[in-house]
Amino acid sequence: MNGLPENALSGLGVADGIAIGPAHVVEGGVDRVLEFRISAGRIPIEIERFQAATVTASQQLERLREQSRRIGGGAGEEMDYLLSAHASMLAGSRLTRGVEQRIRDRRINAEAAVQREIAAIVRQFKALSDPYLAARADDVRDLGRRLIRALGGERTEPFADITPGSVVVAREITPADMAAMEPGQVTGLAAEIGGADGHTAIMARGLGISAVLGVPDLVANIRQGDQVIIDGQAGIVIVRPDKATIDNYRRQRTTLLRRRRALAKLKDLPSETRDGVAVHLQANVELPIEAEQALGFGAEGIGLLRSEFQFMAAETEPDEDCQYEQLASIVRGMDGRPVTIRTLDVGFDKLPPSMVEGLPPGDNPALGLRAIRLSLLRPALLETQLAAILRAANHGPVRILLPMITTVSEIVAVRAAMVRVARKLKRRKVDIPDPLPPLGVMIEVPAAALSADALARVCDFFSIGTNDLTMYTLALDRTNEQVASLYDPLHPGVLRLMQFAVAAALRAGIPVNVCGEMAGDPRFAPLLIGLGIRDLSMAVGSIPLVKQRIRRLDTVAAAEHADMVMAQTDPARSAELLDAAP
Ligand code: PEP
Ligand code: MG
Repeated sequence: MNGLPENALSGLGVADGIAIGPAHVVEGGVDRVLEFRISAGRIPIEIERFQAATVTASQQLERLREQSRRIGGGAGEEMDYLLSAHASMLAGSRLTRGVEQRIRDRRINAEAAVQREIAAIVRQFKALSDPYLAARADDVRDLGRRLIRALGGERTEPFADITPGSVVVAREITPADMAAMEPGQVTGLAAEIGGADGHTAIMARGLGISAVLGVPDLVANIRQGDQVIIDGQAGIVIVRPDKATIDNYRRQRTTLLRRRRALAKLKDLPSETRDGVAVHLQANVELPIEAEQALGFGAEGIGLLRSEFQFMAAETEPDEDCQYEQLASIVRGMDGRPVTIRTLDVGFDKLPPSMVEGLPPGDNPALGLRAIRLSLLRPALLETQLAAILRAANHGPVRILLPMITTVSEIVAVRAAMVRVARKLKRRKVDIPDPLPPLGVMIEVPAAALSADALARVCDFFSIGTNDLTMYTLALDRTNEQVASLYDPLHPGVLRLMQFAVAAALRAGIPVNVCGEMAGDPRFAPLLIGLGIRDLSMAVGSIPLVKQRIRRLDTVAAAEHADMVMAQTDPARSAELLDAAP
């Protein structure tokens, strides 16, 4: 095929299944623009287009500066400083003069002139011996991207012209990219960057898209339209497979689909152990389409609604009515089953396009202005979201969940905000539930697990986020393929924190569930049930598999198994015990 031989590349298999289809290669950055020659008559038109783009970019920068001033503090000041530097580069500078000259002299389109001028300035900056000035090359590049976007009149749509059934191939696929994909158009994903419990991997599992991440040199080995096979279980990407390979994988795919159909028959059977103990299985939802699928997979509710989806796909931050409509539709769709809505957890690997520029990444985004920290810093953002959630709670049982909590004071502050918002809504004669919905917290930071008894006094439930708990306990980036082999929730450090938090919840008499990826892996079910957990929330597609495992379990044997695992010091031995669990 294409005269080139079959080529197998390996990475991390992060979402099961087999995908076969043409590659849709997405290249990022400004390198993507097309360059073409223009006629002499077209020169003033291209210059005018460029000047209009500088006006649009200046307006965007001014809006962002207003936002950064609202953030305030050191971060806000730094951002404001940076943005004003960008703005001054647009005002009659070498950049603008250089672009206009290139359009005139080289007779090229405005986008290409921007690209060439930016490349020239970056080269000069990089050649400087001063490291501070050399680093400013990134600012110039950013500004170039902004101008090129403004010239296009709209955000780039990397998936707009995708052939249905494609396999998306990129250096990096972000959660915002995932939100921009049309479900059903994409059958597989492969990228050079990413770990198994990053949000891109989680979204792929939720959407049932086979995925392999952390594949070195991927993009250099695949051309647009090449036939590609993704084996999400084995973590293999096969480029330009020959006929025998395709036939082999088609057979495997048929067997897999048959197995999934058989599992689907479990949907209406109760989720209970052999000794009759109910274990509630709920769905994690990243995108509304998963909420639509939840009942079909037998979910008893939505245990984690990651509200970031409302911000990911939008050009601007959604207002209260817009958030309310989307949430209410999900709550109504669950037909009286509980829905746990988590407040915004942006920052780190999840950056909605509308917030990218207003959120300075800092050197360490996982430890920075993420989740509840951002919400508390921007009261209008938090209160708008709480208002939308309280209104949606009128349509069915809703709980509110707070991400990345570390201290009691954060919970107290959010509860005060919730009461304030409720009062305002009542004054507006808007119906909201009385009493207000339960307010719970994610246990996903070691400090939260270790002070779980204190947190339990001021909140109504716990949800254990094993993804971040593992990351923050082991100091390992969950999205970084280079440390993926070290990322292990069976580390005794992680398990002891979980055990401590569960015990604190049981003592305080508040509900506790697990909503991290551990919950959706049937291998962990005996351990989690043995630790006393009776509520698990996971990707919709995992529910039948976990239910099958639970129906074979006995809680007494599971408790003995958990005791044995908790006594281990070597995670590899714990893994062996898991494989031999009753
Ligand atoms: C977690 O950290 O385990 C979790 C469920 O939250 P998220 O994956 O959205 O960070
Ligand atoms: Mg988390």
